[in-house]
Amino acid sequence: EGTMGQLHVLFFPFMAHGHMIPTLDMAKLFALRGVKPTIITTALNAPIFTKTIDRIKNLGIEISLIVIRFPALEAGLPEGCENADQVHSEEMISKFFKATGMLQEQLEHVLRETRPDCLVADMFFPWATDVAAKFNIPRLIFHGTSFFALCASETIRLYEPQKSVSSDSEHFILPRFPHEIKLTRMQLAGHDREHGDTYLSKVFIQVKESELTSYGVIVNSFYELEPAYADHYRMVLGRKAWHIGPLSLCNREVEDKGQRGKEAAIDKHDCLTWLDSKKPDSVLYVCFGSMPNFTDAQLYEIAKGLEASGQQFIWVVRRGEKEEEENEKWQPEGFEERMKGKGLIIRGWAPQVLVLDHEAVGGFVTHCGWNSVLEGVSAGLPMVTWPLFAEQFYNEKLVTEILKIGLSIGAHEWTRKATDGIEREAIEKAAKQIMVGEEAEEMRSRARAFKDTARKAVEEGGSSYTDLNTLIEELNSYRH
Ligand code: UDP
Repeated sequence: EGTMGQLHVLFFPFMAHGHMIPTLDMAKLFALRGVKPTIITTALNAPIFTKTIDRIKNLGIEISLIVIRFPALEAGLPEGCENADQVHSEEMISKFFKATGMLQEQLEHVLRETRPDCLVADMFFPWATDVAAKFNIPRLIFHGTSFFALCASETIRLYEPQKSVSSDSEHFILPRFPHEIKLTRMQLAGHDREHGDTYLSKVFIQVKESELTSYGVIVNSFYELEPAYADHYRMVLGRKAWHIGPLSLCNREVEDKGQRGKEAAIDKHDCLTWLDSKKPDSVLYVCFGSMPNFTDAQLYEIAKGLEASGQQFIWVVRRGEKEEEENEKWQPEGFEERMKGKGLIIRGWAPQVLVLDHEAVGGFVTHCGWNSVLEGVSAGLPMVTWPLFAEQFYNEKLVTEILKIGLSIGAHEWTRKATDGIEREAIEKAAKQIMVGEEAEEMRSRARAFKDTARKAVEEGGSSYTDLNTLIEELNSYRH
């Protein structure tokens, strides 16, 4: 601070909930430390930020929002398609990235107008490093994932262990890794795959390159959760990085936990009242993130498995473009009726952090999106891991093999539309195993310990608190 006034940081998240939600938390956290945060987004994504921004203004926390235009039509997308959760095919994903690639000029315009001291831009905007360089400011990257996943990606880029096997389903080991971790090619994140000549492949190559040339990386994690990988990333792989998470915990300070992302499809009080009537650790929460991901056939299997498990549950069912349809063929005959009082189905958006933090919730079935994993850890919950795509298979390894607070459902293959064929028996078994019995108790007590460490990490003097201080100091001295 001092004579130069407030440090001004510009945040530019990718247009997907898993990227925008933690960015909003990050902006709050920076504001709480006296930094002036500005977020850039597009018109149809703005409500995700504005409600929170308006609410916390009364608490004296100022976040500015700048709205730019998303070129959906120019990229061949339907009008109004501005969020990755509206994108349902490989072709559309590619067009979506094309549209984001067209945002460069608008970003430059914003930088010219606002003159920030630093740009925190999403991994998926590799060109942001050059834009920041034009204005002589550091570009930080936000990936929204774990140190573990960052190390896995980097190890795959450096040593190409996936080339040592002859089929997609054969296991290879990540070389020079802190633990022995096996993966298959079918489990690699999109940006770690063999690259062809497509538009998307080129973006992913640029994503890797821009990681090497950016000023550093902000990680939504805390040191005590994955110390071997925080060290490996910084000391062995040589990356400049700061861990400042779990970001979702900053809402404790500003009393703003309920509203994250979209408007919830259920009144949060109804949901919490339902949970209030349940015993501690007796409800399993089942949710697979912000993207609609299951076929009706897979939803049917989940319903059958949950019912057979005899466990109480809250299940968030997302059906994407089918969400509005009356047809609910995925439901076994009379399922919801039979489950009354025992299972609550939320069609659409759930107030996830509030649910996870409720004492009645005792387990979490997750797709291993990093925000969800970290929210589960922060709530002290054991997890059933059911990875689908992106870097979720890496996060699964961390949860099940290193932290030992989760059980794998046995998904093998990367897929945007899970037709992976996980059968009801596997779901039934995992639901029971994570909720009751000795193994469940052991995992729960390990998870609880992480919950406490997570809270300490973000408190004054904690590892994440201190690392954020270091980052802010560094950005301040960069200005001089
Ligand atoms: N989320 C939520 N309600 C839902 C689904 C998701 O609040 O019904 C939030 C969740 O708490 C998390 C984010 O959306 O913060 C999802 O991010 P994650 O990285 O877990 O998965 P992604 O959606 O990116 O696959």
